[in-house]
Amino acid sequence: MKQITILGATGSIGLSTLDVISEHRDKYSVFALTANTNVEEMYQQCALFNPRYAVMSCNDSAVALGKLIENSELETEVMSGDEGLHRVSEHPEVDVVMASIVGAAGLKPTLAAVHAGKRILLANKEALVMTGSLFMAAAKKAGAEILPIDSEHNAIYQCMPATYRSGMPLKHIRRILLTASGGPFRNTPLSDIKGVTPEQACKHPNWSMGRKISVDSATMMNKGLELIEACWLFDTTPDSIEVHVHPESIIHSMVEYDDGSVLAQMGSPDMRTPIAYGLGWPDRIESGVSSLDLFKISQLNFEQPDEERFPCLRLAAEAYRLGGTACAILNAANEEAVDAFLNKKIRFDQIATLIERVMESLAPRQQADFDMIFEDDAAARLMAVKLIEQGL
Ligand code: NAD
Ligand code: MG
Repeated sequence: MKQITILGATGSIGLSTLDVISEHRDKYSVFALTANTNVEEMYQQCALFNPRYAVMSCNDSAVALGKLIENSELETEVMSGDEGLHRVSEHPEVDVVMASIVGAAGLKPTLAAVHAGKRILLANKEALVMTGSLFMAAAKKAGAEILPIDSEHNAIYQCMPATYRSGMPLKHIRRILLTASGGPFRNTPLSDIKGVTPEQACKHPNWSMGRKISVDSATMMNKGLELIEACWLFDTTPDSIEVHVHPESIIHSMVEYDDGSVLAQMGSPDMRTPIAYGLGWPDRIESGVSSLDLFKISQLNFEQPDEERFPCLRLAAEAYRLGGTACAILNAANEEAVDAFLNKKIRFDQIATLIERVMESLAPRQQADFDMIFEDDAAARLMAVKLIEQGL
């Protein structure tokens, strides 16, 4: 029986993870669930999965959940804040940690699991984007297994030789073909993109996801973050990675070998596939995902990304090249920009402008340690808020 902690259990990835686990109650036991403020959903999950611990990041939410549990027959212990998150990430009885908190908020608990040498199912790409080499070095030192859950990186992992593990240098591989859907505005006239609403941006054509990653998909910053994520996971550089816009989202990414062979991983766009892969690895388990109907899909299309339409892709590649704390600055500026867009403080096209301005205003520091990364993350957020207040 494997003991699982799910960080961010009430989100899109968290729910899909619980859906897969619910079909394999003989193999996986839910040790701990965490969430930010969604008390009602967390209470329902506790009733269904009976975890030893439930952690609410927000203290008031922890109090509210505690009252609900007290008045029930449940024995789940409620904890709160960073300390609670740390405890359930590094607890000696935990085998697997699903890292599915969104954004920089997921970094510290994910790192706690890394330092404790857990198997980590990594959905929280922002954690790796921010800390890159430090994250991978810590995983190597502690013997933590990093299994990518992001569908593209999971696909690439599946196309690697069976002995390949995250962080190892690539052998006999010419390039990685990273696929992208192009999001909801791939064909929207450029003049109309300025005025798109948060609701339109969150309506992804193929995937159902949380709001932040949905906006990232619409700006293609998601692909930019994934480019950086792939560099760290597969010990490579942007020069060996080519983004292919593939609007059907059936091929989740590809690997080209020296002999010209191109291996692709395909499937319906449903995150339960990579989640089941991570849970079952090195075995395979049922995910609940239906079979791919290629007759119905009938065509797979590919395009080059449009750099004018999607400046965030260029900004992400630039941050990777700058190195040091540049990716943390990029990520923090993006999180603030997306939040401001969702709260209607800036327009959609101003997301990229704001990130670029923040990157121009702050020089990244090299040979950074974790503290410097947190400092530059905070500085980038302050700068972003200031620029928004000044009207950009
Ligand atoms: P979501 O918004 O649906 O869920 C986020 C979860 O994190 C929730 O449980 C929420 O309670 C928790 N959370 C939010 N802020 C928090 C905070 N400050 N402190 C503690 N917990 C907090 O997001 P999602 O779509 O499930 O995405 C989660 C992560 O997985 C993201 O990093 C995303 O990029 C990545 N990812 C998601 C998908 C997808 O299909 N949804 C695919 C690939 C990668
Ligand atoms: Mg992805």
